[in-house]
Amino acid sequence: MFAEQSDLQGTQVLDMLVVGGGINGVGIARDAAGRGLSVRLVEKGDLAAATSSASSKLIHGGLRYLEHGAFRLVREALAEREVLFTSAPHIIRPLPFVLPYTGGLRPRALLRLGLFLYDHLAGHRTLPGTQTVAFRGHPYGEPLQAHLTSGFVYSDCWVDDARLVVLNARDAAAHGAQISTRTEMRSARRKGDHWRILIGNDSVTTEVAARILVNAAGPWVAEILRRAGVTEHKADIRLIKGSHIVVPRLYNGTQAYILSRSIRRKSIISAVSCPAGSPSRWRPRTSSGATPEFARFTTTGKGTLRR
Ligand SMILES: Cc1cc2nc3c(=O)[nH]c(=O)nc-3n(C[C@H](O)[C@H](O)[C@H](O)COP(=O)(O)OP(=O)(O)OC[C@H]3O[C@@H](n4cnc5c(N)ncnc54)[C@H](O)[C@@H]3O)c2cc1C
Repeated sequence: MFAEQSDLQGTQVLDMLVVGGGINGVGIARDAAGRGLSVRLVEKGDLAAATSSASSKLIHGGLRYLEHGAFRLVREALAEREVLFTSAPHIIRPLPFVLPYTGGLRPRALLRLGLFLYDHLAGHRTLPGTQTVAFRGHPYGEPLQAHLTSGFVYSDCWVDDARLVVLNARDAAAHGAQISTRTEMRSARRKGDHWRILIGNDSVTTEVAARILVNAAGPWVAEILRRAGVTEHKADIRLIKGSHIVVPRLYNGTQAYILSRSIRRKSIISAVSCPAGSPSRWRPRTSSGATPEFARFTTTGKGTLRR
Protein backbone atom coordinates (compact mmCIF):
# COMPACT_ATOMS: atom_id res chain seq x y z
CA MET A 1 0.00 0.00 0.00
CA PHE A 2 1.19 3.52 -0.78
CA ALA A 3 1.28 6.28 1.85
CA GLU A 4 -1.09 9.25 1.50
CA GLN A 5 0.00 12.20 -0.64
CA SER A 6 0.44 14.49 2.35
CA ASP A 7 2.57 11.94 4.14
CA LEU A 8 6.03 12.04 2.61
CA GLN A 9 7.74 12.12 5.99
CA GLY A 10 10.26 9.36 6.29
CA THR A 11 10.00 8.68 2.55
CA GLN A 12 12.98 9.29 0.27
CA VAL A 13 11.91 12.06 -2.13
CA LEU A 14 13.77 12.24 -5.43
CA ASP A 15 13.67 14.18 -8.65
CA MET A 16 14.05 10.96 -10.66
CA LEU A 17 13.88 7.22 -10.14
CA VAL A 18 15.35 5.15 -12.98
CA VAL A 19 14.30 1.53 -13.40
CA GLY A 20 16.98 -0.62 -15.09
CA GLY A 21 20.75 -0.80 -14.82
CA GLY A 22 21.50 -1.39 -18.50
CA ILE A 23 23.24 1.14 -20.73
CA ASN A 24 20.09 3.25 -21.15
CA GLY A 25 19.32 3.40 -17.43
CA VAL A 26 22.84 4.28 -16.31
CA GLY A 27 23.24 6.77 -19.16
CA ILE A 28 20.04 8.57 -18.18
CA ALA A 29 21.00 8.50 -14.49
CA ARG A 30 24.44 9.91 -15.28
CA ASP A 31 23.04 12.67 -17.46
CA ALA A 32 20.37 13.66 -14.92
CA ALA A 33 22.76 13.57 -11.94
CA GLY A 34 25.22 15.67 -13.93
CA ARG A 35 22.47 18.30 -14.33
CA GLY A 36 22.01 18.45 -10.56
CA LEU A 37 18.89 16.28 -10.18
CA SER A 38 18.58 13.93 -7.22
CA VAL A 39 18.56 10.47 -8.81
CA ARG A 40 18.24 6.88 -7.69
CA LEU A 41 18.60 3.91 -10.04
CA VAL A 42 17.19 0.50 -9.17
CA GLU A 43 18.36 -2.66 -10.90
CA LYS A 44 16.75 -5.96 -10.00
CA GLY A 45 19.90 -7.97 -10.79
CA ASP A 46 23.40 -6.68 -11.38
CA LEU A 47 24.50 -3.81 -13.62
CA ALA A 48 24.52 -4.83 -17.31
CA ALA A 49 23.06 -8.20 -16.38
CA ALA A 50 20.72 -8.31 -19.38
CA THR A 51 20.96 -7.02 -22.98
CA SER A 52 23.76 -4.56 -22.29
CA SER A 53 26.35 -7.28 -21.74
CA ALA A 54 25.11 -9.47 -24.58
CA SER A 55 25.37 -7.04 -27.49
CA SER A 56 27.65 -7.43 -30.51
CA LYS A 57 29.86 -4.88 -28.73
CA LEU A 58 29.91 -2.50 -31.65
CA ILE A 59 29.69 1.27 -31.49
CA HIS A 60 28.59 2.09 -34.97
CA GLY A 61 26.85 4.81 -36.89
CA GLY A 62 24.52 2.41 -38.68
CA LEU A 63 25.99 2.23 -42.17
CA ARG A 64 23.03 0.24 -43.43
CA TYR A 65 20.58 2.98 -42.42
CA LEU A 66 22.08 5.23 -45.12
CA GLU A 67 20.40 2.96 -47.63
CA HIS A 68 17.05 3.91 -46.14
CA GLY A 69 17.79 7.63 -46.19
CA ALA A 70 18.19 7.98 -42.41
CA PHE A 71 21.00 10.55 -42.75
CA ARG A 72 20.22 12.42 -39.56
CA LEU A 73 20.14 9.24 -37.49
CA VAL A 74 23.49 8.13 -38.91
CA ARG A 75 25.06 11.57 -38.42
CA GLU A 76 23.97 11.67 -34.76
CA ALA A 77 25.15 8.10 -34.13
CA LEU A 78 28.52 8.82 -35.73
CA ALA A 79 28.91 11.94 -33.59
CA GLU A 80 28.13 9.87 -30.46
CA ARG A 81 30.63 7.23 -31.58
CA GLU A 82 33.25 9.97 -31.69
CA VAL A 83 32.30 11.27 -28.24
CA LEU A 84 32.45 7.78 -26.72
CA PHE A 85 35.71 6.83 -28.39
CA THR A 86 37.49 9.95 -27.26
CA SER A 87 36.10 9.78 -23.71
CA ALA A 88 36.76 6.06 -23.01
CA PRO A 89 39.61 4.87 -25.25
CA HIS A 90 40.66 2.33 -22.58
CA ILE A 91 37.58 0.18 -23.26
CA ILE A 92 36.89 1.17 -26.89
CA ARG A 93 39.10 0.46 -29.89
CA PRO A 94 38.75 1.08 -33.63
CA LEU A 95 37.41 -1.95 -35.48
CA PRO A 96 38.18 -2.29 -39.19
CA PHE A 97 35.23 -3.75 -41.13
CA VAL A 98 36.12 -5.56 -44.36
CA LEU A 99 33.39 -5.33 -46.99
CA PRO A 100 34.26 -7.64 -49.90
CA TYR A 101 32.88 -6.52 -53.23
CA THR A 102 30.66 -9.30 -54.52
CA GLY A 103 29.21 -7.62 -57.58
CA GLY A 104 25.64 -8.65 -56.76
CA LEU A 105 23.38 -6.16 -55.05
CA ARG A 106 24.92 -2.74 -55.49
CA PRO A 107 27.28 -1.04 -57.97
CA ARG A 108 30.79 -0.48 -56.65
CA ALA A 109 30.46 3.31 -57.09
CA LEU A 110 27.31 3.34 -54.93
CA LEU A 111 29.07 1.45 -52.14
CA ARG A 112 32.01 3.87 -52.31
CA LEU A 113 29.63 6.84 -52.17
CA GLY A 114 27.87 5.39 -49.12
CA LEU A 115 31.18 4.85 -47.37
CA PHE A 116 32.34 8.36 -48.29
CA LEU A 117 29.18 9.72 -46.63
CA TYR A 118 29.77 7.46 -43.62
CA ASP A 119 33.30 8.86 -43.27
CA HIS A 120 32.23 12.49 -43.52
CA LEU A 121 28.65 12.87 -42.24
CA ALA A 122 29.69 13.62 -38.66
CA GLY A 123 32.35 16.17 -39.65
CA HIS A 124 35.35 15.77 -37.37
CA ARG A 125 36.58 12.19 -37.03
CA THR A 126 39.44 10.36 -35.35
CA LEU A 127 38.96 6.92 -36.95
CA PRO A 128 40.75 6.00 -40.20
CA GLY A 129 38.83 6.72 -43.41
CA THR A 130 37.62 4.06 -45.86
CA GLN A 131 40.22 2.36 -48.05
CA THR A 132 39.81 0.33 -51.23
CA VAL A 133 41.78 -2.88 -50.84
CA ALA A 134 43.00 -5.52 -53.34
CA PHE A 135 42.83 -8.75 -51.34
CA ARG A 136 45.49 -10.76 -53.17
CA GLY A 137 48.51 -10.86 -50.82
CA HIS A 138 46.74 -8.65 -48.23
CA PRO A 139 46.26 -10.10 -44.71
CA TYR A 140 42.57 -9.12 -44.84
CA GLY A 141 42.18 -11.27 -47.98
CA GLU A 142 43.64 -14.40 -46.39
CA PRO A 143 40.36 -15.74 -44.86
CA LEU A 144 38.32 -14.88 -47.97
CA GLN A 145 37.37 -17.14 -50.84
CA ALA A 146 39.47 -16.73 -53.98
CA HIS A 147 36.73 -15.19 -56.15
CA LEU A 148 36.63 -12.13 -53.82
CA THR A 149 39.48 -10.03 -55.17
CA SER A 150 38.78 -6.56 -53.81
CA GLY A 151 36.61 -4.58 -51.46
CA PHE A 152 36.52 -1.79 -48.92
CA VAL A 153 37.73 -1.39 -45.36
CA TYR A 154 35.87 1.11 -43.20
CA SER A 155 36.00 1.78 -39.45
CA ASP A 156 33.63 1.45 -36.56
CA CYS A 157 34.42 0.75 -32.89
CA TRP A 158 34.46 -2.26 -30.57
CA VAL A 159 33.54 -1.72 -26.92
CA ASP A 160 33.57 -3.74 -23.72
CA ASP A 161 29.83 -3.18 -23.30
CA ALA A 162 29.46 -4.29 -19.67
CA ARG A 163 32.34 -2.07 -18.54
CA LEU A 164 30.77 0.86 -20.39
CA VAL A 165 27.67 0.35 -18.25
CA VAL A 166 29.65 0.11 -15.01
CA LEU A 167 31.72 3.21 -15.84
CA ASN A 168 28.56 5.22 -16.55
CA ALA A 169 27.08 4.02 -13.24
CA ARG A 170 30.24 5.00 -11.37
CA ASP A 171 30.19 8.44 -12.92
CA ALA A 172 26.49 8.84 -12.12
CA ALA A 173 27.33 7.92 -8.51
CA ALA A 174 30.22 10.39 -8.51
CA HIS A 175 27.64 13.06 -9.41
CA GLY A 176 25.44 12.04 -6.49
CA ALA A 177 23.17 9.37 -7.96
CA GLN A 178 22.31 6.42 -5.73
CA ILE A 179 22.80 3.14 -7.59
CA SER A 180 20.86 0.28 -5.98
CA THR A 181 21.52 -3.15 -7.46
CA ARG A 182 19.54 -6.27 -6.41
CA THR A 183 16.62 -3.90 -5.98
CA GLU A 184 13.43 -4.39 -7.94
CA MET A 185 10.76 -1.89 -8.84
CA ARG A 186 7.60 -3.66 -7.69
CA SER A 187 4.83 -1.16 -8.39
CA ALA A 188 4.17 2.55 -8.80
CA ARG A 189 1.27 4.94 -8.73
CA ARG A 190 1.06 8.65 -9.53
CA LYS A 191 -0.17 10.68 -6.56
CA GLY A 192 -0.22 14.44 -6.95
CA ASP A 193 3.18 15.72 -7.99
CA HIS A 194 5.02 12.50 -7.36
CA TRP A 195 5.23 8.87 -8.32
CA ARG A 196 5.03 6.66 -5.24
CA ILE A 197 7.16 3.64 -5.96
CA LEU A 198 7.60 0.39 -4.08
CA ILE A 199 11.09 -1.03 -4.43
CA GLY A 200 12.77 -3.91 -2.67
CA ASN A 201 14.51 -7.24 -2.55
CA ASP A 202 13.72 -10.60 -0.97
CA SER A 203 13.92 -9.27 2.58
CA VAL A 204 12.68 -5.66 2.48
CA THR A 205 10.26 -3.43 0.57
CA THR A 206 10.40 0.35 0.85
CA GLU A 207 8.53 3.25 -0.69
CA VAL A 208 10.21 6.15 -2.44
CA ALA A 209 8.70 9.21 -4.10
CA ALA A 210 9.97 10.71 -7.36
CA ARG A 211 8.77 13.48 -9.64
CA ILE A 212 10.00 11.55 -12.66
CA LEU A 213 9.90 7.79 -13.16
CA VAL A 214 12.12 6.52 -15.98
CA ASN A 215 11.33 3.18 -17.53
CA ALA A 216 14.66 1.89 -18.84
CA ALA A 217 13.88 -1.78 -18.29
CA GLY A 218 14.80 -2.99 -21.78
CA PRO A 219 12.89 -6.18 -22.60
CA TRP A 220 10.78 -5.67 -19.45
CA VAL A 221 9.56 -2.24 -20.52
CA ALA A 222 5.94 -3.39 -20.97
CA GLU A 223 5.99 -5.12 -17.57
CA ILE A 224 7.08 -1.86 -15.92
CA LEU A 225 4.22 0.00 -17.60
CA ARG A 226 1.86 -2.62 -16.21
CA ARG A 227 3.35 -2.31 -12.72
CA ALA A 228 2.97 1.47 -12.92
CA GLY A 229 -0.68 1.07 -13.83
CA VAL A 230 -0.15 2.68 -17.24
CA THR A 231 -2.71 0.93 -19.37
CA GLU A 232 -3.09 3.49 -22.13
CA HIS A 233 -0.03 4.52 -24.06
CA LYS A 234 0.88 5.19 -27.65
CA ALA A 235 4.01 3.07 -27.65
CA ASP A 236 3.97 0.13 -30.03
CA ILE A 237 6.11 -2.28 -28.02
CA ARG A 238 7.52 -5.22 -29.94
CA LEU A 239 10.45 -7.31 -28.78
CA ILE A 240 13.08 -7.77 -31.50
CA LYS A 241 15.38 -10.75 -31.37
CA GLY A 242 19.01 -10.72 -32.45
CA SER A 243 21.26 -13.76 -32.48
CA HIS A 244 24.95 -14.52 -32.13
CA ILE A 245 26.45 -17.75 -33.32
CA VAL A 246 29.75 -18.28 -31.50
CA VAL A 247 32.10 -20.56 -33.43
CA PRO A 248 35.78 -21.56 -33.13
CA ARG A 249 38.04 -18.86 -34.51
CA LEU A 250 37.72 -18.63 -38.31
CA TYR A 251 40.65 -16.33 -39.00
CA ASN A 252 43.49 -14.44 -37.35
CA GLY A 253 43.35 -10.73 -36.73
CA THR A 254 40.88 -8.38 -35.07
CA GLN A 255 39.16 -7.16 -38.25
CA ALA A 256 35.47 -7.89 -38.83
CA TYR A 257 33.85 -9.01 -42.09
CA ILE A 258 30.51 -8.19 -43.65
CA LEU A 259 29.39 -11.59 -44.91
CA SER A 260 26.10 -10.67 -46.52
CA ARG A 261 23.80 -7.75 -46.81
CA SER A 262 20.20 -7.97 -47.82
CA ILE A 263 18.19 -4.89 -48.76
CA ARG A 264 14.93 -6.79 -48.54
CA ARG A 265 15.49 -8.15 -45.03
CA LYS A 266 17.18 -4.94 -43.78
CA SER A 267 19.73 -7.09 -41.98
CA ILE A 268 23.47 -7.61 -42.03
CA ILE A 269 25.41 -10.76 -41.27
CA SER A 270 28.89 -10.07 -40.01
CA ALA A 271 31.79 -11.95 -38.46
CA VAL A 272 33.36 -10.22 -35.49
CA SER A 273 36.52 -11.61 -33.93
CA CYS A 274 36.43 -11.80 -30.14
CA PRO A 275 39.59 -10.24 -28.75
CA ALA A 276 41.66 -11.56 -25.87
CA GLY A 277 40.16 -10.37 -22.62
CA SER A 278 36.58 -10.89 -23.82
CA PRO A 279 34.22 -12.54 -21.35
CA SER A 280 34.69 -16.34 -21.41
CA ARG A 281 31.41 -16.97 -23.22
CA TRP A 282 32.91 -15.19 -26.27
CA ARG A 283 36.46 -16.52 -26.20
CA PRO A 284 38.40 -17.64 -28.27
CA ARG A 285 35.89 -17.47 -31.01
CA THR A 286 34.40 -15.61 -33.89
CA SER A 287 30.87 -14.44 -33.32
CA SER A 288 28.49 -14.04 -36.21
CA GLY A 289 25.59 -11.71 -35.61
CA ALA A 290 23.10 -10.28 -35.37
CA THR A 291 20.70 -12.39 -37.36
CA PRO A 292 17.44 -14.14 -36.70
CA GLU A 293 18.36 -17.72 -37.39
CA PHE A 294 21.19 -20.10 -38.06
CA ALA A 295 19.79 -21.55 -41.29
CA ARG A 296 19.90 -18.17 -42.97
CA PHE A 297 23.44 -17.61 -41.73
CA THR A 298 24.66 -20.83 -43.31
CA THR A 299 23.03 -20.12 -46.67
CA THR A 300 23.78 -16.42 -47.09
CA GLY A 301 27.05 -16.38 -45.16
CA LYS A 302 28.73 -19.05 -47.22
CA GLY A 303 30.55 -17.87 -50.29
CA THR A 304 32.57 -15.25 -48.38
CA LEU A 305 34.95 -16.86 -45.87
CA ARG A 306 37.06 -19.88 -46.76
CA ARG A 307 35.99 -21.77 -43.60
C1 LIG B 1 22.02 -9.68 -30.26
C2 LIG B 1 22.12 -8.19 -30.04
C3 LIG B 1 23.22 -7.50 -30.48
C4 LIG B 1 23.32 -6.13 -30.28
N1 LIG B 1 24.44 -5.49 -30.69
C5 LIG B 1 24.56 -4.16 -30.48
C6 LIG B 1 25.76 -3.50 -30.85
O1 LIG B 1 26.70 -4.10 -31.37
N2 LIG B 1 25.85 -2.17 -30.61
C7 LIG B 1 24.81 -1.48 -30.03
O2 LIG B 1 24.95 -0.26 -29.83
N3 LIG B 1 23.66 -2.09 -29.65
C8 LIG B 1 23.54 -3.41 -29.86
N4 LIG B 1 22.40 -4.04 -29.48
C9 LIG B 1 21.36 -3.25 -28.82
C10 LIG B 1 21.77 -2.96 -27.36
O3 LIG B 1 22.38 -4.11 -26.80
C11 LIG B 1 20.53 -2.57 -26.58
O4 LIG B 1 19.89 -1.50 -27.23
C12 LIG B 1 20.87 -2.13 -25.16
O5 LIG B 1 21.71 -3.05 -24.50
C13 LIG B 1 19.58 -1.95 -24.40
O6 LIG B 1 19.94 -1.51 -23.12
P1 LIG B 1 18.82 -1.23 -22.04
O7 LIG B 1 19.46 -0.51 -20.91
O8 LIG B 1 17.65 -0.57 -22.67
O9 LIG B 1 18.29 -2.69 -21.62
P2 LIG B 1 18.97 -3.84 -20.74
O10 LIG B 1 20.46 -3.86 -20.87
O11 LIG B 1 18.25 -5.09 -21.04
O12 LIG B 1 18.69 -3.37 -19.25
C14 LIG B 1 17.40 -3.41 -18.68
C15 LIG B 1 17.59 -3.70 -17.21
O13 LIG B 1 16.35 -3.50 -16.54
C16 LIG B 1 16.36 -4.38 -15.43
N5 LIG B 1 15.00 -4.53 -14.92
C17 LIG B 1 13.94 -5.08 -15.57
N6 LIG B 1 12.85 -5.03 -14.79
C18 LIG B 1 13.23 -4.42 -13.64
C19 LIG B 1 12.54 -4.09 -12.42
N7 LIG B 1 11.24 -4.38 -12.24
N8 LIG B 1 13.22 -3.49 -11.44
C20 LIG B 1 14.55 -3.19 -11.60
N9 LIG B 1 15.24 -3.50 -12.71
C21 LIG B 1 14.59 -4.10 -13.71
C22 LIG B 1 16.93 -5.66 -16.00
O14 LIG B 1 17.44 -6.51 -14.98
C23 LIG B 1 18.02 -5.14 -16.93
O15 LIG B 1 19.31 -5.15 -16.33
C24 LIG B 1 22.27 -5.42 -29.64
C25 LIG B 1 21.16 -6.11 -29.18
C26 LIG B 1 21.08 -7.48 -29.37
C27 LIG B 1 19.87 -8.21 -28.84
